[in-house]
This record gives sequence, C-alpha cells and structure tokens, in this order.
Amino acid sequence: MGNSNGGAARAAPKTRIVVVGGGFGGAQLVRHLEGLCRRSRHDVQIILVSKDNYFLMTPLLFEACSGTLQLQHCSVPIRAFLHKALFLEATVRHIDLERRVVHASGSDRAEYEVPYDQLVLAPGSVTNTTRIPGSEYAFTFKALADALVLRNHILERFERAEVETDQAHKRKLLTFVVVGGGLVGIELLGELNAFVDSIGLFYPHVRRDDVRFVVFEGGEHILPEIEPQLVQYAEKVLRRRPGVEIRTGVRVTAIEPEAVHVGGETLEAGTIVLSAGILPSPLVATLPLEKGRHGELIVDATMRCPSRPEVWALGDCASIPSPNGKPYPTLAQHALREAKALAGSLHAVLHGGSPRPFVYHIKGLMGSLGHKKAFAQVLGVRLRGFLAWWVRRTYYLAQVPGWTRRLHVVMDWTMALFFRPDIVKIDTAREAELLLRDAAAGGLPGPVNPLRRLGEPFSGAAPQ
Ligand SMILES: Cc1cc2nc3c(=O)[nH]c(=O)nc-3n(C[C@H](O)[C@H](O)[C@H](O)COP(=O)(O)OP(=O)(O)OC[C@H]3O[C@@H](n4cnc5c(N)ncnc54)[C@H](O)[C@@H]3O)c2cc1C
Repeated sequence: MGNSNGGAARAAPKTRIVVVGGGFGGAQLVRHLEGLCRRSRHDVQIILVSKDNYFLMTPLLFEACSGTLQLQHCSVPIRAFLHKALFLEATVRHIDLERRVVHASGSDRAEYEVPYDQLVLAPGSVTNTTRIPGSEYAFTFKALADALVLRNHILERFERAEVETDQAHKRKLLTFVVVGGGLVGIELLGELNAFVDSIGLFYPHVRRDDVRFVVFEGGEHILPEIEPQLVQYAEKVLRRRPGVEIRTGVRVTAIEPEAVHVGGETLEAGTIVLSAGILPSPLVATLPLEKGRHGELIVDATMRCPSRPEVWALGDCASIPSPNGKPYPTLAQHALREAKALAGSLHAVLHGGSPRPFVYHIKGLMGSLGHKKAFAQVLGVRLRGFLAWWVRRTYYLAQVPGWTRRLHVVMDWTMALFFRPDIVKIDTAREAELLLRDAAAGGLPGPVNPLRRLGEPFSGAAPQ
C-alpha cells in the first residue's frame, strides 16, 4: 500500500487481493478468505479498504435510531475481527483497471495507491435520489450517520412542538412522512411509531393525536417483497396505531423543504424520509465495465467481471445472475452467502482451480413493526406478532460478529425493556459550532437570546 506523498514502499507480496467496501459482502468475504488462506497461503496479502472503520448491521439500524440500541452497537469495528488482513480506512475515489491500482483518500486528505492482483468490489449502494425532484430535502436511512441525524431531528421536532402555540405549525412539526413502502420504509415507520409512543411522557404538551405518520407507496400495496398474507397483517397492525396513514398507489412527484407533492396535493411535514429504492455506489459508475439497467456491475454467476477476470463484485453493487437468469435481490442475506462463495472461488483460483457459480435459494424475509411485533416468512413458514419479533431479533443477534458486541446488544435490549428511551439530542454539527463560538469568545457562552430566557413565555418565532 503506497502513500502517494512518498511513504516507504514495502516488499510486494506474491498475490495481493484488494477488497473495496467493508459491509455485509466485503467484510464477510475477508473473514472467510482469511480463514481459507491462513494455513495454505502465506504468500497472499488481503487488504480491505472501506470508508468507515466499522461494519454496519443495517437490520439493527432502526433500533439505533429509536434509541433501543446505543448507536455504535449496531456496528462492529472491522479491526476487531480481522487477523492478518490489512485494513485501510479510506474512500476509494478511482480505480485504474489498466495499471491495477486502487486510489483512495483518507479523512485527512492523505492519498493512497493500493495495487492489486485480484480486486473485489463490494461498495454497496446509496439511496436513489434521482427519481424524485427535491430528494435532497429528505432524510435518507442507509448509514449510521443517517440514524443519528434522523433521531436528533425527531427529538428536535418534539422539543419545538412542546412549546409551539400555533396549532397548525405544531401539526406540521409532528407530521412524519416516509416516501416508499418497502421493507426499509415500513420497518422505519413501525419503529419510529413505537419510539414516539415511548417518549410521549417527556412532552406533556404534545398530544399523541397531533402526531401523524404517513407512508406513500407507488405500488398497489406496501411490502412488495413479502407474501400477501403478511402484507395484510402488517397493514392491519400499522393502521391500528394512532396517526398512521398508509397511502398506496400514489406517487410522490416532488419534495420541497418540509413538504411533499403527491398528485395535486401538497402535504406539509416536519420530517420527510426517502426510502424509495437504491442505486449502486457512485464508485461503480466511474468504472469502464459493463453495467445493468440501474448501473449495477454485470458479473457472471461466479461473480467475475466478464471483461476483466481479475475483477469480482458482490452485494448491492452487482447484478449476479441466479439459475433462472434473474439477478439475485439486494439483501444482506444474499451478500453474506455471496461473500462465502466468492472467498471459496478466489481460494480455488489462487490454487489454479476454477471459480464456482453462486447458487442460493432465499430462506425468507423478516421485518419489524415496532412494539414487539414483526412478520416473518422463514423456510416457508409464516410467523406474526411477538414470535416473529423474537425470531428476527435472535437471528440478527446471531449475525453480529463477535461475542463482545452481541453482549452489548443484549444488554441494550434488556435495558430497553425496563426503561424509557433516552431523549438526549446530540446535534453534532451544532455542538461543534457552539464549541467554536464559545472558544472564540474566550470560553464564555454566547449572548442569551431574550426569547429563550427561563420563565418568560415562549413563542414559536425563530430568534432574530
Ligand atoms: C436500514 C436497512 C435495513 C436493512 N435490513 C435488511 C434486512 O433486514 N435483511 C436483509 O437481508 N437486508 C437488509 N438490508 C439490505 C442490506 O443492508 C444490504 O443488502 C447489504 O448491506 C448489502 O451488502 P453490501 O456489502 O453490498 O453493502 P454494504 O453492507 O452497504 O457495505 C458497503 C460498504 O462499502 C463502503 N463503501 C462504499 N463506498 C465506498 C468507497 N468509495 N470506498 C470505500 N468504501 C466504500 C461502505 O462504507 C460500506 O461499509 C437493509 C438495508 C438498510 C439500509
């Protein structure tokens, strides 16, 4: 791994495998490959390059947002489960396929050049913000930072609503819109709904009736991924909750700051979350390789790029054909199995063998609805309610790498059974701004805005 600022070059190992992206696909691939190469291939160097130094358990992100889980407990530090593989926390900006070099930059703008013999691409996906004009005004829900930002925003809305005297403005502050009724959108809706119920006690001037959740789904029904019986169940559970509206067969045509346009109607909302599809990581778009309709990398059934046999791809960024010719869905359960299969294929190739096609039959799908309710279709069996919720939790707990983090998760879940969620709001951008301002003022806090003095009547007006 060379630093283009002139870092000392190391003796090149015989075979260098570089993996881009430390998520379900990339991080798990490295784990499996390390295991396979540990005894037989000491001449192989594995390098994992990823933007963040942790692996995110996305199915637990909802609970991190609602505070059931501490934020960092839905992620696992990558270094904690690597043995001999090198890890570089950096963002890959460019890949020179001719010279076989990955160019990445670190947070301090340090530039790295990482040569490879075999390259595995697993940079995942991003929320599709190209479909609906104004998507930049909506929150996304994909990364750890998204959960933090959304959580802080919701708490901030409640703080404002608590002291708001204008009823119309209060309603707007307390209207939460989710654009997209797929698995992620619906799980988020369910979890946020439960979160709002549990924090109500802290906000005596917010009536539960004032809080409104609206989900817009362009298709005929929500949860297109799951069986109709479970869709009906999920709809029934959610519709029974106060303030929940599920609007199907309607498309959001535009998003503005604090408003969505649906057909001829405009709905004002203090919080808008976009969860209407994904696109492959923008890194993929920069590569002169064959792409599918949505920009995903076309690979063969062994996950190899047809035009570049030394390049492989898996997970959300890749279109991997299943035996019936259709690409596998973009799900963690597939990325995990693809990782294992690809590690085996790479190991075989290192020994002069051939890679094997990836074949996997989906085992089922699960989704949480909050309030200890979920739905699941597992190995052909349909589960609902508490049992499904328990199965889902137990399954994802088992998927968390390492016992330390698993224990953290169990402790958080246990605490959440007995105590109300934390409503501490940590607005990192604002805190940093305040610290800088106070430091500039010689350590003294800035001037107190008269509107915000204790004991005086509040007003909904923004401070001048
Ligand atoms: C909220 C949420 C809940 C979900 N729940 C489920 C579920 O319950 N069940 C299920 O099966 N699937 C679920 N999914 C889908 C699942 O998370 C993805 O299918 C899976 O993560 C794909 O794995 P991946 O390795 O391709 O990408 P990811 O896991 O997203 O990993 C990509 C990694 O690459 C890194 N990266 C990206 N770009 C770069 C770059 N340029 N340079 C360096 N590193 C980069 C990222 O930081 C990340 O670490 C959920 C997704 C979300 C958003």
